[in-house]
Amino acid sequence: MHGMVIRGGTLIDGTGAPAVRVDLAIEGARIAGLVKDYDAKSASTLDATGMIVCPGFVDIHSHSDFHLLGNPLAESKVHQGVTTELVGNCGGSAAPLLGNAREAAIDHARNLLVDVDWTSMDEYLLRLNNIRTSVNVATLVGAETIRRCILGDADVQPTGDQLDQMKRLVADAMLQGAFGISSGLIYAPGCYAKTEELVALASTAASLGGMYASHIRGEGKTLVRAVAEAIRIGRESHARVEVSHHKACGQSNWGLVRETIEMVQKARSEGIDVAFDVYPYIASRTSLDTILPPWAREGGKEGVLMRLRDARTRERIIKELETPSDSWEAMAAEDGWDNIVVVDFKTPGNKRFENSSLLEIAKMVGKRPVDAALDIISEEDLQVKAIFHEISEADVITVIGNTLSSIGSDGSAEAPYGPTGESATHPRSYGTFPRVLRRYALEKNVFTLEEAIRKMTSWPAERIGLEGRGILAKGMAADIVVFDERTIRDCATFEDSHKYPEGIRAVFVNGALTVDNGEHTKERAGQVLRHKTSIA
Ligand SMILES: [Zn+2]
Repeated sequence: MHGMVIRGGTLIDGTGAPAVRVDLAIEGARIAGLVKDYDAKSASTLDATGMIVCPGFVDIHSHSDFHLLGNPLAESKVHQGVTTELVGNCGGSAAPLLGNAREAAIDHARNLLVDVDWTSMDEYLLRLNNIRTSVNVATLVGAETIRRCILGDADVQPTGDQLDQMKRLVADAMLQGAFGISSGLIYAPGCYAKTEELVALASTAASLGGMYASHIRGEGKTLVRAVAEAIRIGRESHARVEVSHHKACGQSNWGLVRETIEMVQKARSEGIDVAFDVYPYIASRTSLDTILPPWAREGGKEGVLMRLRDARTRERIIKELETPSDSWEAMAAEDGWDNIVVVDFKTPGNKRFENSSLLEIAKMVGKRPVDAALDIISEEDLQVKAIFHEISEADVITVIGNTLSSIGSDGSAEAPYGPTGESATHPRSYGTFPRVLRRYALEKNVFTLEEAIRKMTSWPAERIGLEGRGILAKGMAADIVVFDERTIRDCATFEDSHKYPEGIRAVFVNGALTVDNGEHTKERAGQVLRHKTSIA
């Protein structure tokens, strides 16, 4: 086949410019032209009459690093129109893997039936390239991963020599293709990094043109302080800063995002390039053990398990969980155990608790919720996740409606079958982009369709430093979504999470038709993207 014309559709180019009625021609992996009433009899045609034609969505905040190796079809992402994923977020990347970083990666990959047979960023990207994924992939290098390589899982500070080694690993990863660095400052051992360490690593990335994306140090009562730290890192490292999945957690903190957005705007006016991304849901999802105080999470899995088994240490943890201090985020104590729903159990005996709240589980087993939580963390070897219902809809609208926000799912490429289909997930992995179009653009009129699409395409592409994608124009990559604005909607819910959206007519990845009438064609035309400074 030699070229394809998408005929009769309404084109939204991703820049925010108004929609126009024009045909789009694809030649190979690129856009050959935007032509009024295209006349080429040799090309095959896709009839897009009555539909919107726009760039493929760029998921600026994804966690598919290992998922794509387990299932390269990227089902839950490409079905919603995502054509490029940025992985390596929240401090954790799939490379480099030295020392404790390797063990952590093997632990994570095992659940997805993936063999960890690489060490460097270059080897990981080659592995992705060889498996041929259905979406394009770009990655950041994780500051926590780097820390684990050199310092392990302990609550320690690097010597000058160790910091130099860490900076060298960041530079190597950048030269091998990473687009920048990420941090995850609520996770252990990432949370042990002081601001100076992050400035040092972000400076190395920035000197090679890389961004700094951060799951900041607190999203609850310490939110303002945490955003201030991200801005400081931008000021001192000169990196572009992306505050990841921006939100205020816990009812007493709702509304703080208005203050933090003002801080970001002020920083921008001072020349610091800060922005943020957001997912369209009022619940988050992460590891259940993040409810533990930082000191209890030191020393990796074995350290945590030992503390939970020791009666006196366990009592101390419980006491702190019930009386939150100002120095960490006691999400549980904040909004109550009924707002924490546990998912992703691996132990057969615990499967019956899947998708139940800690309050419900506590009743089932006749324990206090705090005891049920600690027992589950221990029995599941820390591999269990939770959905925290802790965000307000008004805040989602404030953040999503701001011109600086990109849309990022914070989810992974999952499938209803295989290992990912065995437990409930957060619906964001399946529904993020159609949900923004349906709920926030078409129903609530928070913004126009053109603006919604800009937040999913050209804006995140600019933040990441992706070249040749995110806009429909001649010569750009033919990453394209065709959808019906009358029917597009997300179908995944917290009760029934593995559901593909409706209303997506077609998705092209590098010119290859990958979703056709809602069905995956099994095409795997995604490319592994390497940052422009890479020499690999
Ligand atoms: Zn995160």
